[in-house]
Amino acid sequence: MNLEAPTSSFHHRVQDAFQNPGRLEAIRQAAARFYEHRDAVLGALQDADALRDLARLIRAHTIANLDTYLVQFEVSVQQAGGQVHWARDAAEARSIVLDIACQADAKRIAKSKSMVTEEIRLNKALMDAGLEVIETDLGEFIAQLGGDHPSHIIAPVLHLTRQEIGAIFQEKLGVDYTDDPLALNQIAREKLREVYLSSDIGITGCNFAVAESGTICLATNEGNGRMVTTLPRVHIAIMGMERIVPTLDDLAVMLQLLGRSATGQKMTVYTSLINGPRRQGDPHGPDAVHVIILDNGRTKALAGDLAEILYCIRCGACLNVCPVYKTIGGHAYGSVYPGPVGAIISPILGGIPAFADLPHASTLCGACQEVCPVRIDLPALLLRLRRDTVVEGQSPSWLRRGMQIYAKTASKPSRFSLATGVAALGTRLLGRDWIRLPFPGPLAAWTRFRHFPVFARRIFQHQLKDDQHE
Ligand code: SF4
Repeated sequence: MNLEAPTSSFHHRVQDAFQNPGRLEAIRQAAARFYEHRDAVLGALQDADALRDLARLIRAHTIANLDTYLVQFEVSVQQAGGQVHWARDAAEARSIVLDIACQADAKRIAKSKSMVTEEIRLNKALMDAGLEVIETDLGEFIAQLGGDHPSHIIAPVLHLTRQEIGAIFQEKLGVDYTDDPLALNQIAREKLREVYLSSDIGITGCNFAVAESGTICLATNEGNGRMVTTLPRVHIAIMGMERIVPTLDDLAVMLQLLGRSATGQKMTVYTSLINGPRRQGDPHGPDAVHVIILDNGRTKALAGDLAEILYCIRCGACLNVCPVYKTIGGHAYGSVYPGPVGAIISPILGGIPAFADLPHASTLCGACQEVCPVRIDLPALLLRLRRDTVVEGQSPSWLRRGMQIYAKTASKPSRFSLATGVAALGTRLLGRDWIRLPFPGPLAAWTRFRHFPVFARRIFQHQLKDDQHE
């Protein structure tokens, strides 16, 4: 299994999320803020649409030629003095990190925010091996202290209120309670400063990897990425194999869109470009840089009709605009990747049986596609995955049987006409305009929150014909 499967059903996870309306409100407000800012800064660009078209072309070209660019990247990293490791799956990636840690005689590891390390459950493996691991991104630091996990791909603790964060700091760090954001920031800063200085290894993800130069690009807002890649003796960067861009010029296009789409900033505050370890005469930098390129199910996606999802630059814009994400929050998805992008990536990486509900957790309104900086057709991918869930027998048998009967009925006009006539008569026995009684069995979900309209006496086509003749 490339991605950890959830332990409870989607239905239960959503019910759990509804138990905490305060958190859902925090998510809604933060997502709305991100979205408003995004709109403003993209609108200020001279030609945002042309830039997005160009970004899509770059991503499409790169993914279509991934084999070439990955090999070019490997050679470039080696020329810059770094080492490249290939990991087929999560277990292999974890074992490579553990080997490097063992060779470096490491005791303490400082981490910068990285979704791919969440994907491979790296922290647990390192801690099980007796290593101390400390998250240094403020959101991840809070999640780690609180025994929580991220609910958004760029803002890990979007779901927490500042009062909850104050209580976590008080309990876990033994400080006086405060919910003042500046004071909380200062407490975290003081704690983390010592972590940077005493860690043996710094682990990061990778926003983009540049094939022509072997550059690892990190975009952060807190500067912790710089500390983690500069102060410890060893730097390990872990990247999904689709993170590649061919050239530094292509990187410039992506960076113009990443900050704008993610948080509504013209540029992420700290953009670090890392090229190999410290060279002779450099005052700072690690002695060794290792890059781990992770497959973990991505080549399988590359070969199928869901490959477009690999264009994703993990900006999170589709989460901020999704009505389902904003209603149920990130944890209800049961995956490290929530929202529309997660509803596609999670079944690809973790298998359809474990995540069969997620492609259905969408209204298919198309808002995600509209905001996606690289114009991924997310609704089309969700529909393809819905088809796959049916093909793999993951939809309820009553629903499959029902759809088969419907298909038979709707494919012959005389049958359809007869069926709608019977339905109109039947539903009119239960109500005048609306049926207010609860439906039985699995249909009860339909009438739990709304009434069901009675069927029209005549089908729309017949009504239209009559209207045209009048
Ligand atoms: S699918 Fe598009 S909008 Fe969503 S995270 Fe990826 S790049 Fe951003």
